[in-house]
Amino acid sequence: MASAVLEATDAKAAAQAFIDSAPGLWIGGQDVPAIAGARRDVIEPATGKVVCMVAEGTAHDVDRAVSAARAAFESPEWRRMKPLARERLLHRLADLIERDADILARIEATDTGKILPAARHGDVVIALDSLRYTAGWTTKIEGTTINPSFSYIPDVTFSSRTVREPVGVVGQIIPWNFPLVMAIWKIAPAMAAGCTVVLKPAEDTPLSALYLARLAAEAGIPAGVLNIVTGGREVGVALVEHADVDKIAFTGSTAAGQDIQRRAAGTMKRLSLELGGKSPVVVLPDCPVPMAVEGAAGAIFFNHGQVCTAGSRLLIHRSLYAQVVEGLAAAANGMTLGAPADAQAQMGPLISARQRDRVNGYVEGALAQGARLAAGGFAPEGDGFFYRPTVIADATPEMTIFREEVFGPVVIALPFDTEEEALRLANDTCFGLGASVWTGDLHAANRFAAGLKAGNVWINAHNILDPAVPFGGWKMSGYGHELGHSAIDLYTEVKSVTMPVL
Ligand code: NAD
Repeated sequence: MASAVLEATDAKAAAQAFIDSAPGLWIGGQDVPAIAGARRDVIEPATGKVVCMVAEGTAHDVDRAVSAARAAFESPEWRRMKPLARERLLHRLADLIERDADILARIEATDTGKILPAARHGDVVIALDSLRYTAGWTTKIEGTTINPSFSYIPDVTFSSRTVREPVGVVGQIIPWNFPLVMAIWKIAPAMAAGCTVVLKPAEDTPLSALYLARLAAEAGIPAGVLNIVTGGREVGVALVEHADVDKIAFTGSTAAGQDIQRRAAGTMKRLSLELGGKSPVVVLPDCPVPMAVEGAAGAIFFNHGQVCTAGSRLLIHRSLYAQVVEGLAAAANGMTLGAPADAQAQMGPLISARQRDRVNGYVEGALAQGARLAAGGFAPEGDGFFYRPTVIADATPEMTIFREEVFGPVVIALPFDTEEEALRLANDTCFGLGASVWTGDLHAANRFAAGLKAGNVWINAHNILDPAVPFGGWKMSGYGHELGHSAIDLYTEVKSVTMPVL
């Protein structure tokens, strides 16, 4: 499978042709330049070289995109379209993603640095599954019927019902770690609910969303339903503050989420926020060492650690601590780094030089505060933004690296002696996104599942997500669950309708 992706020369040429086309903004079903005419470099993380330029939007472009989205929302061709017809359009989009899966994987790998097999068999498949699953909700958005009393109106019997209506024009702002997946997680439930969208991809990774917009047009999704405005923070801020945007769905850092929450207060628009994490991985004493090592490595090194649920705090029972740290360090040292098309590569580069330097800063800070380097801890010589997978032992809760999100391939390890201590350490964070416990003891697993303060708990697994399973954060990891039925709730408003019946 993997080699088929590496050898798909047609897809390679098609992806390159798209990148070379230096796409503009996508507004009202058309590729348009930014009003101010500015463009921004798109840099390939594996080489550090500019691969193309894309349009750099501003608040004026956001105005234009919101107008297009509003017109599409008010038109009879989308919101009032028969649900089955809208579902069919979303499936048609999924068919086109399937057709162009190799092209999309190459675009994504160029833009993010992911190795090609991961982009093709991870990102594209996850995006497809999510779109197909969510398409099915289009026909299943339901309300309730209620027999109210209205006891202060004694002589009349009333009936009430609730309906769920699309929230309206939605601004969606996404990060760079899973650009295609994040785009689908956002646009699919919004469109299923009958909303229209202005999506802002991350400044570092604009390409797959722009390709997706073209597929949406080809699928027959009406112009203006999906608009893409590329650009930086200014575009995000303009969306958040726009008076004609009804809701913001944001995935990104907690700091940006806080800023969005403050700015959205002015218009009271609906918000859902998927933010940062500092997720614990807890290894109980009965866990076999090889299972703990493999689980911990997958939890932190998947997608180069650039995962909001990355298992970045490894809590190991003292009886296994030395063996697990040693095994994980060996696994880290054995990993081959390389460019997306390198058949030997197991891990690609980080997204940018800035991110690599930030990650290295956290590692140096931890060592300065007394932690021990067990593996990695440096950027290898050469082009691209590579950083060696890193294991830091003997960390303590007082260290900055215990508290703050690194968002790179860096795990800290701490020993614990009792279950109570492990649970206290696991919950000793302002975040509450993911957590895993590794054990064969069913009762202990259930005690941890009940005690962990996080929106997503795994037992003997980590970072596995499915479109049917709600995903979201507690505490400073945000609010509002994507995926599953919950995703539809994020894009609909409840309306009650009451009438006398007798
Ligand atoms: P970021 O917050 O810097 O940027 C995310 C997006 O928001 C970008 O498109 C950016 O341009 C935009 N943005 C930044 N500041 C903004 C503001 N004040 N108003 C409006 N838009 C703004 O995050 P990042 O560095 O791109 O991504 C990494 C972060 O995202 C990490 O903290 C990670 O945990 C988080 N993340 C969370 C999830 C989740 O589901 N919880 C998933 C992926 C990433």
